[in-house]
Amino acid sequence: MKTSARVVVIGGGVVGVSTLYHLAKMGWSDVVLVERKELTSGSTWHAAGLLPLFNLSYSVGKLHQYSVDFYPSLEAETELNVGFSRVSNIRLARTADRWDEYHYYAGVARTIGVDLRFLTPDQVKEIWPLCETNGLIGAIQHTADGYIQPADLTQALAKGARQRGAMIYRNTRVTDIAQQPGGEWRVSTDKGDIVCEHVVSATGSFARQTGAMVGLDIPVIPVEHQYIVTEAHPAIQARRRQGLPEMGVLRESDSSWYMREEAGGLLLGPYEIGAPACYKDGPARESEYELFQDNLERLEPYVMSAVARVPAFAEVGIKKIYNGAIAYTPDGSPIVGPAWGVKNFWLNEGHSFGVTAAGGAGWQLAHWIVDGEPTVDMMGVDPRRFGDYASRGYLVEKNEEAYARVFSVHYPDEEREAARPLRQTPCYGRMKALGAVFGSVFGWERPNWFAPPGLALTDADLAKPDVLLNVNHPVNDDGGPVREKWAFRRSNYFEHVGAECRHVSAHVGLQDMSAFAKCEISGPGAERWLDELLTNATPKKTGRLALSYLLTDKGGVRAEFTVYKRGPQRYYLVSAGAFERHDHDYIRKALPTDGSVTFERLTTAMGMLVLAGPKSRAVLQAVTDANLSNEAFPWLSGQSISIGAAPVEALRVNFIGELGWEIHHPIEMQNYIFDKLMAAGAAHAIRPFGIRAMDSLRLEKSYKLIPRELSIEYAALESGLERFVSFKKTEFRGKAGLMAWREQGFAHRFVTLDVHGVTDADARGSEPILSGGEVVGRATSGGYGWRVGKSLALAMVAPDHGAPGTDLDIVILGRTHKATVVADSPFDPNNDALRS
Ligand SMILES: Cc1cc2nc3c(=O)[nH]c(=O)nc-3n(C[C@H](O)[C@H](O)[C@H](O)COP(=O)(O)OP(=O)(O)OC[C@H]3O[C@@H](n4cnc5c(N)ncnc54)[C@H](O)[C@@H]3O)c2cc1C
Repeated sequence: MKTSARVVVIGGGVVGVSTLYHLAKMGWSDVVLVERKELTSGSTWHAAGLLPLFNLSYSVGKLHQYSVDFYPSLEAETELNVGFSRVSNIRLARTADRWDEYHYYAGVARTIGVDLRFLTPDQVKEIWPLCETNGLIGAIQHTADGYIQPADLTQALAKGARQRGAMIYRNTRVTDIAQQPGGEWRVSTDKGDIVCEHVVSATGSFARQTGAMVGLDIPVIPVEHQYIVTEAHPAIQARRRQGLPEMGVLRESDSSWYMREEAGGLLLGPYEIGAPACYKDGPARESEYELFQDNLERLEPYVMSAVARVPAFAEVGIKKIYNGAIAYTPDGSPIVGPAWGVKNFWLNEGHSFGVTAAGGAGWQLAHWIVDGEPTVDMMGVDPRRFGDYASRGYLVEKNEEAYARVFSVHYPDEEREAARPLRQTPCYGRMKALGAVFGSVFGWERPNWFAPPGLALTDADLAKPDVLLNVNHPVNDDGGPVREKWAFRRSNYFEHVGAECRHVSAHVGLQDMSAFAKCEISGPGAERWLDELLTNATPKKTGRLALSYLLTDKGGVRAEFTVYKRGPQRYYLVSAGAFERHDHDYIRKALPTDGSVTFERLTTAMGMLVLAGPKSRAVLQAVTDANLSNEAFPWLSGQSISIGAAPVEALRVNFIGELGWEIHHPIEMQNYIFDKLMAAGAAHAIRPFGIRAMDSLRLEKSYKLIPRELSIEYAALESGLERFVSFKKTEFRGKAGLMAWREQGFAHRFVTLDVHGVTDADARGSEPILSGGEVVGRATSGGYGWRVGKSLALAMVAPDHGAPGTDLDIVILGRTHKATVVADSPFDPNNDALRS
């Protein structure tokens, strides 16, 4: 066995072998894979092999698309047949909301370049004669989709990797992983040690055991997944004999199952509610090709629904039931990218659609390792999107929930219930009493909007499936929780969010944004180091603040920070709550080793309340003796002040474009401060506002968000960040790359669009933007702007189509609307409110 290599990949399932293949393909031939048993003996061998392209995420969609395009090419390269049956994939729709979901997805598919057809019930019958079509509105069909033989695919990937010089050691178990003082890794196996630069963990159900070897609590716990294979059915056999095509993969989304032909019979795979987490402490040491006892009782309701849709299913006996472990994460997406806290340790774990994702995930991870960056925005699968709140108990609850929700309608405003309310800021109870309807970000409860007392849905609304009855919501007059209706269209909270927007714009509002990630960077080297790391000039004077960006080496945007000079050699950095682990990991890994710069995490030590609106000065002035006049406390500055007896850092910035302050405070004093502000605000009709109002207000200011308008796929200057990039500085990370990108020419331009003729469905992001029928860009965000009274979208379009005044089209839920490019910041373009 080799004793050194550039990369050691642990795990010989389809995901690990694909990673090995792609590393070798990128020219790194000194790479090895170690598998404790035989290749595919974990989860891969028993997968049903479906390759669903359907995914509402733009980035995961791209990974799946790559796989489906790439797998067939392996045969020519390796002379091994991967068993790809391109039989197409039909997803049925029974409800209007499902139909909306498909139309929304059609936009995502179009921007990625995935081919999709809408089918009538009659067309479904034509393709799938054994399928009853009663109750169907229609269906979508992916013609490029189908299923594959997972073991054959893995063997072909292995051959392709070996042909390029990679080595695979089977029956070799990794027993320990340790980083050496020089930074290289020593991977110990039961057959000897291998020293390497990089380690990739692709160990499926063993992820947490592998992680424990390097002190990582990897947020993966599998769930049991079953499918049934039947005996052959005469009607299917007859079709075979007649040379008729296979009927394709059928998905009854509204009943949560998939079905396809299998060796003349049928294969039915339900996603059951109540499927338990398994291997909570990992599989047993000798586990190999392992299946669990089947549970027919759990399958029964799904079998009944399958029989109703495909009566032939009842006419044949069951040949075998497979019940195997399927890796899950709390949000159901895999974990692909660098591990936090350790350098050159990579994760390709948590795959629940691993056969589908393996190609794309291996491809992008190989880019990340070899080039230092992926080429696709990977925020949706980044391992650092969860924090240390994701305990074993949390994973069991959330992963079971993620599994049960695979087929639920994925509304853009969906908020799941399991393991909540986990992280509460001190004012949680006060906000709840004021009517807060909470959402969850990074485990924190955050008010999304505020329901007026007694808000109720109509009986017709309640009769619909998927009406959210979230236990985190305040109690209604009738004793039940406030009912928030999820929708792709304007929902029952629309007007109430509008009222919050109008109120904060006319009076004053208070928002809890304590979930923000916060840290302090200090020390004699802090200013210079921040200058070299981030795009903007680091504030030189205490009390000044700046918005600054961390770029990739190529010049794309990785993270955004508010940088506030709090005192001599002390900088307070604030970034998005959802990205705490991500952003802080980049910072910590970039710290100089000479001790001249210190990092301190402050997220849970500091709370943050936003006080904003034209009356915010009057309210704050009533509780502080600090001089809040424009001259003494201008926009984009901060001061240490007292609110009553509480010390706070007040920063004159906000994300909604109104006069206002972010009030950062010791978290244990939050309720004291909250009560002071609410009491002083009473004279000015203060009201709380939530994230949904903030999102509407920020659209009107053309403020950008990661990973929407800002992403590693877009150069910082394409995203319109000129004002925050100081080319005068000798160096900042990504400067050379950004200049080279500019030299080459940009492919995108950030624009704000006024969308015409919208009555009930605003853009949400991911809608195609067209000119003359051709796709020229994609919306990245959208919604209704209450101050300007317009439906708005933010978008990235080809530069030729970005000039204000340009007329374009945008497709929202299948309807084409005219849209006009307008100058950025349709509300208050001169920032008069902010400066007032
Ligand atoms: C019933 C069922 C049906 C499914 N159907 C589909 C489907 O239709 N489409 C789809 O896309 N997905 C499907 N899946 C999911 C799919 O099986 C997985 O997502 C995929 O196989 C994951 O591959 P992997 O390489 O990550 O993990 P695995 O295949 O489990 O591979 C991990 C490997 O790591 C090895 N390993 C672990 N620890 C060590 C160590 N210390 N040293 C050395 N080696 C180690 C293990 O032995 C194992 O071989 C299905 C899953 C189930 C259970």
